[in-house]
Amino acid sequence: MTNALQCWSFAGLAIVMLAGCATTAQQIPLAYAPETARPSAGVHDYGMAVKAIASVMVEDLRLPRLESVFYLYPSGADYTTGLKSELRDRPDPGGREQALAIASCDRRKVLANAERLARISWPDRVRTVAHEMVHLAEFALADWRCATPHYWLMEGFAQWGAYKVTDRLGLHTYAAGAALSSRHSASFYSAGTLPPLDGLATEAEWEAAERSVGKEAVYGQSLLAVDFLIERKGLPAVLDYFARFRDSAARSDHFSAAFGEDVDAFQAEFGAHLKSIL
Ligand SMILES: [Zn+2]
Repeated sequence: MTNALQCWSFAGLAIVMLAGCATTAQQIPLAYAPETARPSAGVHDYGMAVKAIASVMVEDLRLPRLESVFYLYPSGADYTTGLKSELRDRPDPGGREQALAIASCDRRKVLANAERLARISWPDRVRTVAHEMVHLAEFALADWRCATPHYWLMEGFAQWGAYKVTDRLGLHTYAAGAALSSRHSASFYSAGTLPPLDGLATEAEWEAAERSVGKEAVYGQSLLAVDFLIERKGLPAVLDYFARFRDSAARSDHFSAAFGEDVDAFQAEFGAHLKSIL
């Protein structure tokens, strides 16, 4: 067993153990701080960026304050080691290394690969971290019960929130994000191969759709669906939907209770909406 693995095997004592590790993750608190200067998000500093992201999430989007930590791994190898340790209760944790960053409900953390993040633009890095922080907010709304909501709604809201964050921080406009989502979805919509929302409820269904039409189209459609859902039902209804997972994992019941209709009814309205915009 290497030193690094010994360290990770004592994740609960991470703060103590990491001090003695050869390879460590930079740990950045994801706490909300009032009166954060939002322009600081443009400075290439993750500590300042996460404060600015939290500011928009709490003050503008009315999402819960997080008491979580951002683990930024300096290399791909460190990231893979971290995933295997932090996500060891999930299937194939090492296989998730293709994601630039990932939110863990069980660990209440965001894990990220700094080496690969460095290859994308700073605004895209901020959006990537914001997406994962919105996932943590979804889990926090449900008191960290870690039940899985409809996958398209969980991912679509993280996309929606991330673009709202970068818009408010002056880094990427929301309109540009929505337009990009439309472009990514349009050809599959025209070909009739865009997976329907009622076939995107579980992680297995979501991953099958990614293999079928690609990540961009699946994420793009989900952002458009959440945008339409919020336009029709309001943001508080979406927050209510996630909060209902405090009591049970009955996602269909929660959808009907929060939005006053079932997924099939929403799917029909969303289909007509897509027809008008794509
Ligand atoms: Zn996500």
